[in-house]
Amino acid sequence: MERKSGNKIMINGRELRPYIWNLYNGHKTNDIDYYYTRMMESGLKVEELGKTDNDLPIFLLQNDHVKGQPNIMIMSGVHGEETAGPWGLLNVMMKLKLMKIHVNISIIPIMNPYGFSKGIRFNADLKSINSGYFRTKSGKPELTTEGEIFNRNFVRFSELARNGFLSCHEDVMEKHFFIYEIINGTKPDFYCNEIQLIGIKYFDKQPDGPTYDGTVKDGVVMNEKDGTIDDYLFTIGGIHRAITTETPGTADINKRVYVTEQLITKFIELYNAGRFFI
Ligand SMILES: [Zn+2]
Repeated sequence: MERKSGNKIMINGRELRPYIWNLYNGHKTNDIDYYYTRMMESGLKVEELGKTDNDLPIFLLQNDHVKGQPNIMIMSGVHGEETAGPWGLLNVMMKLKLMKIHVNISIIPIMNPYGFSKGIRFNADLKSINSGYFRTKSGKPELTTEGEIFNRNFVRFSELARNGFLSCHEDVMEKHFFIYEIINGTKPDFYCNEIQLIGIKYFDKQPDGPTYDGTVKDGVVMNEKDGTIDDYLFTIGGIHRAITTETPGTADINKRVYVTEQLITKFIELYNAGRFFI
C-alpha cells in the first residue's frame, strides 16, 4: 500500500528512502559489485539461481556437503536496506573455508539484489519479496520476480534448510535487538536462547510489547505465522526451525556487521557441535 505522509512516500508503513552507510572497508553498504567480487573469493561453490528484472543475479553458495550431516540455510538481504545481514554474512563466508564444519550449509547472501544496490527495502516494483508465497489477501500466490526464483527452488530449499533456517534482518527504526523463532513448541528453544545471548551482549533487548510484526516477549516473537519466507519454509516446507534476527538499524553500521557475523557464526557452531550436547 502506497501512501503519502507529508513529503514522504510510505509503503506498508515504511518510508521509501535509501539507507546507505560507509563501511569500515572503505565501501558503501550498497556496493553490490564489490560484494559479489569478494564473495567469489570465498572458495564456496557458487550457483546463480536467476536474475532480477534489472539483470542482477541472486546467488546460492554452499560448502562441500556430506550425506548425513545437518542441513542448514542462511539468508540475508531480503529487505534491501537491512545491510548488516549481507555484510556480516560475507565475513562468515570468507572464513568458512578455514573452518572444519560438519554441517551442510547453503547461503543466499542477497535475496533482493536490486533493493541492496539502491539501499531500499523493496524490489524494483516496490514490492516486498518476503511475502506473496502463501497467506496472501487474494488467497493465491502473488510472487515477485525474486519470489518466483525462490519458489522455483522451494522443494530443494526445504531440504537444504531441513534442520534450520536463519534469516538476518534489521529494523532501521529500532534501537533494540530481538528475534523471531518458529518451531514446534511454545517457548524459545536452546538455539534461540544461545543466539539471543550474543545479540543482547551488544545491544539492548527489545522490551515486551508489539513490534513491526508480532509481539515481543522476553526479546523473542514466537511462532509468528505471517506468510514470510521463514513461515513458508516451516509451515509448507516442513523444516525444523526458522530463526530471524533483528539488529537495530539505528546503531553503528560496523557494530551491526560485527554482531551479525557473530550471530551467524554461533548458528553454524550450534549445529556443528549440536551432536555433542543436544
Ligand atoms: Zn527485514
